[in-house]
Amino acid sequence: MTLPPLPLRVPTYPGETVDSFAHRAAAANHTTITDIEAGLRQQRLLTSRARSHHQRATLWRELGDLPPHAFTTPATLNGHPVPARPLCRHCAGGDAVLARLPQFGLICLHHQCTHDPPHTPIAHLPGLLHAERRFRHLHRTRALVLDSPAMGIARDTARLAYPPRATTHHHSPPIGLPAVMIYRSQVAIAALLTDHTFLHTACSTAPAPHRRRYLATRLTRAVGTHRNNTGRAVQHLWRIIDTLTDYLRAVDSGHRTYTEAFHELLPYYADASQAVGTATNPA
Ligand SMILES: [Zn+2]
Repeated sequence: MTLPPLPLRVPTYPGETVDSFAHRAAAANHTTITDIEAGLRQQRLLTSRARSHHQRATLWRELGDLPPHAFTTPATLNGHPVPARPLCRHCAGGDAVLARLPQFGLICLHHQCTHDPPHTPIAHLPGLLHAERRFRHLHRTRALVLDSPAMGIARDTARLAYPPRATTHHHSPPIGLPAVMIYRSQVAIAALLTDHTFLHTACSTAPAPHRRRYLATRLTRAVGTHRNNTGRAVQHLWRIIDTLTDYLRAVDSGHRTYTEAFHELLPYYADASQAVGTATNPA
C-alpha cells in the first residue's frame, strides 16, 4: 500500500534526515510528527518505535511524495560517523534543515558563510574559504570527514597552537564560531596527519630529537604561527606520533602484530590510497 501524500508539500534537500524533513512537512501541514506517526501506528503501517528504522524513511518518503533516494545518505564513511548538521540557511531556502553532507566542512562556499547558525558571513576571511576548499580536496582524495579521528587530533592540536586569549570559548561545543576560529589550522594539520610522506618521516628510525624537530617545523609551517606559540601543540602531537612510532618498531621487530585498528593514523601511514574507501551503513 502506498500512502497518499500530505496535502501541502515541502521540498527536501540533499542529505536531509528523516527527522528534519518530517518536522518541516508536519509543521507545513499544521500538525506534528508525533500525531502523524501515532496515526500510522494505529493503522499498523508503522510498527517500530526506532527513529532510525527504515520503515519510517519509507513512510515519510510516501507522505512527502519524495523520490526513492531521499533519506539514503550514509550515516558513516569508512566507519567514521557523518552526523547530521545544520545546512546553510541560504542553501535551505530559509528553512532550518539538518543534513548529512560528508563532502562539506564548516563553510558554505556558495554563500560564503558558516553552515551552522548564526550562519556567520566569512566572505572577508579568504583563509577560511581556502580552508574549506582544502578540506573538500582532502575529502575527495583521502576520504576525510569532519568527524574523523584525524580531524579530531587536528582540532585538539590547533586549539593548543592558539594563544590563550583566543581559546576562551573552547569549552563550547565543537561546532560554532570557536570551531571556525581554528578551522584553517585544523584543516592544515589534518592535511599533515594524513600525508604519507609526513608520517613516514615523523615515524622513521631516525633519532627522536630529529623526528621531533621535523614535526615541530612542519606543524609550525602548517598553522602559520610563530614557533613560540606551538610548544604545547608540538608536545601534544609528538606524544601521538611517538606512540605510533613505538608500535611500528615493535611490529618491525616481531614483538607486536600489525593491526590497522591500533591507531587512527595507520591507514594513512600504510598507504594514502587505502584511506579512500566507500560509504557504508545506509541510514
Ligand atoms: Zn549556502
